[in-house]
Amino acid sequence: MGLYQKVLVAVDQTDEAEEVIAAADRVAKKNDAELSFLTVVRPVNYAYTGYDTVAGYANFPAFEAEAQKAAIEMLQKKARDIGRDDSKVAVVLGKPSTAIKDHAKEIDADLIVVGSHGRHGLGLLLGSTANGVLHGAPSDVLTIRIK
Ligand code: AMP
Repeated sequence: MGLYQKVLVAVDQTDEAEEVIAAADRVAKKNDAELSFLTVVRPVNYAYTGYDTVAGYANFPAFEAEAQKAAIEMLQKKARDIGRDDSKVAVVLGKPSTAIKDHAKEIDADLIVVGSHGRHGLGLLLGSTANGVLHGAPSDVLTIRIK
């Protein structure tokens, strides 16, 4: 039996996602582990805008639902592209680092895989999400170095 049985790969919707997924897939295969996928969609910031729901373009709950639907379709395709089960895909609303740790706990993942950089990590040694996941992670964490 390998070191890990349940690997969770968390990706945003940047070009780095495929690189992170490919690495997680290799680790999962080596360990004969299950691979689950997660994308976190950030909620529209009600406090910032001061709006609740306004007819038309400011209908935030509808906008969030639409963003989640698009994210799940994208992630399912990425899973299928590498020959993985697309039912192991989840999209949740929240703050990425917190939601990744919560989801890992929920599915009992024993390894979380994230990229060293994504949208918020450009110019940093380690992206803010990867850093946030490391603090208080419920499992081992593997960061894939994005060049
Ligand atoms: P960042 O902190 O934006 O530089 O992202 C670092 C890494 O954290 C990315 O390569 C992803 O693996 C992961 N990540 C960032 N944002 C999200 C998100 N919204 N959903 C899932 N994973 C994410």
